[in-house]
Amino acid sequence: RAIQDNPNGYRFFAPTMDAELALRRRLENDLRRAIQREELELHYQPIVNTIDHRIIAFEALLRWRHASDGWISPVEFIPMAEGNGMIGPIGEWVLRRACQQMRDWDRQGIPPVPVAVNMSALQLKRHDVPLLVRKMLTEAGIPSHRLELELTETTVMEDADAAQRIFSDIAGLGVKLAVDDFGTGYSSLARLKRFPVGKLKIDRSFVGDLAEDEGDAAIARAIISMGHAMGLKVVAEGVETAEQLAILADAGCDAIQGFFFSRPVPADQAAELLRRGFC
Ligand code: C2E
Ligand code: MG
Ligand code: MG
Ligand code: MG
Repeated sequence: RAIQDNPNGYRFFAPTMDAELALRRRLENDLRRAIQREELELHYQPIVNTIDHRIIAFEALLRWRHASDGWISPVEFIPMAEGNGMIGPIGEWVLRRACQQMRDWDRQGIPPVPVAVNMSALQLKRHDVPLLVRKMLTEAGIPSHRLELELTETTVMEDADAAQRIFSDIAGLGVKLAVDDFGTGYSSLARLKRFPVGKLKIDRSFVGDLAEDEGDAAIARAIISMGHAMGLKVVAEGVETAEQLAILADAGCDAIQGFFFSRPVPADQAAELLRRGFC
């Protein structure tokens, strides 16, 4: 009704929405060809030990370099991929690339670290992920404990026996599981206790204002104590300042990920960081 009340608004809005829809459709279509056009790339962000800043792992983060539109964020194209069925092939590509990258680093004599790969709920549901993971590890000749899968809190807490079976099958392979974006969903502690997870990642929405917002600081501390009480490691993501680092270190947070140490970087730069060993 607001649009009808304002004819100028109508004329203004309609073309914009059409244009946005058209852009979305075009990108969704282009995404189908992104793999074969070699437009996808993994960048790697170090996760460091809170105390000595040594690199203990990398998180692989997907990047799409669109031929004409430039870099597109995974926040935009992962939901598109989930909508148009491309999440299967793209997820497979990510797993293969991450495993091949570990193999390549090994061959270059670079000290081995685990690589964490993000996995969406839809990918877990629609595809035989345990089989796929085993295949990728075997093809690259990488021991299963070097691979970690990050699942969001919402994915983990989903009330489906099938999902729980998939998690235990993956864990049974020796692949590590981490709960991503922890604190943003609703967690059942009973389920978390049964879930074969080794790590919680505090969502960066609690980290950004850590130094200014006592509430956020309290949440971060609570997640760290609870995680430790359950025998889990706790990682904070989105750490950008020395103050945030100091608060998290004081709270006993095990590991840190964030721009303060390094942005996600291409594989060759990640290799340089690994050769040095710390950030
Ligand atoms: P995530 O898994 O929670 O990844 C962390 C995000 O926080 C990354 O954004 C990373 O670049 C960003 N980040 C890390 N440190 C900082 C910091 O200090 N400050 C700020 N402002 N941001 C920081 P990115 O790379 O844009 O990825 C966004 C999300 O897209 C990821 O969130 C993940 O949910 C999804 N994603 C990325 N790659 C994949 C993938 O291969 N598969 C799937 N299914 N999802 C992916
Ligand atoms: Mg993640
Ligand atoms: Mg996260
Ligand atoms: Mg996040």
